[in-house]
Amino acid sequence: MNSLDCPVCKLPMSSRSYEGKPIEQCSNCLGHWVVKAKLQHVVLTRILRFDAHLAVQLAKTPANRAISMAETSRKLACPTCNVELTPRKFADDTPIVINRCVGCEGTWLDRHELEQVQMIVEAIDDLLRG
Ligand SMILES: [Zn+2]
Ligand SMILES: [Zn+2]
Repeated sequence: MNSLDCPVCKLPMSSRSYEGKPIEQCSNCLGHWVVKAKLQHVVLTRILRFDAHLAVQLAKTPANRAISMAETSRKLACPTCNVELTPRKFADDTPIVINRCVGCEGTWLDRHELEQVQMIVEAIDDLLRG
């Protein structure tokens, strides 16, 4: 019904589908709002087998290093509950920082973060396959 506003731009986001799951995307900053973070749940389960080789690859990407400083200095509010989102590491051994709502368990991912998460999932799939 009512579209949710982007926590960064305060503009209405549009729903899209990401690998079969509904995700809100801001057409301005291209960030994503993932309701209930089911995606994250799936990934976190798999990330327990995270490989050091992949961590090194991610750490080599310059854009990743800048994220955490930017994340901790800004304040974002949940588009659903309007409570402040908590920046947290996606996983201890990745440079990815996501913004989590403690109320509805929604997750905000900036433009590149969802891609990074997807990249990790795909890399892990490759590792598990052999
Ligand atoms: Zn936005
Ligand atoms: Zn919320």
